[in-house]
Amino acid sequence: MKISIIQGDITKVKADAIVNAAHHTLMGGGGVDGAIHKNAGSELIEECIKLRNEEFPHGLNTGEAVATKSYGINQAKILIHTVGPRYYSDDLNKLKDCYINSLKIAEENDCKSIAFPAIATGAYGTPIEKSAEIVKEVLSNYNSKIIEEVILVLFTEEDKEVYNKIFTI
Ligand code: ADP
Repeated sequence: MKISIIQGDITKVKADAIVNAAHHTLMGGGGVDGAIHKNAGSELIEECIKLRNEEFPHGLNTGEAVATKSYGINQAKILIHTVGPRYYSDDLNKLKDCYINSLKIAEENDCKSIAFPAIATGAYGTPIEKSAEIVKEVLSNYNSKIIEEVILVLFTEEDKEVYNKIFTI
């Protein structure tokens, strides 16, 4: 898989699958979640309510992932919603699950490209260095016959520099 590290807004990135750092309720939130819901509009929240009622009555567990339609966001095929660990109270290993489960869902949906934000590095407090180390480890151990490109989207230049540094070591 080709790995691209870019700075930007994930709602503007072109990829078959766009990953959301979702709230466990699936009902939207701030950061990436807020931006994705704002762009996708009310149909996304309707699908999320249906998912809650039918499949996840207690919400998504940390590290779990689920797909929805993309509702026109950059002609993506799907959105993948995954819940990151809270740095100060959860097991950081769950961050690996977020990435692995999202990659699996992308493959199941025949996605050739997938864009990730730096899950759990905003409101959930994971240092960007730790995020980069974990994502590097996951991607270097993950082989896919379907996914050709993984796009890691960092919101700031500083975060992108940290990712670039760790991925070149
Ligand atoms: P979490 O609750 O999992 O920490 P956040 O959305 O608060 O999720 O933050 C995750 C990361 O996404 C942070 O590094 C934040 O700067 C970044 N971010 C926020 N908005 C966007 C966006 N529109 N596109 C890409 N990254 C974003």
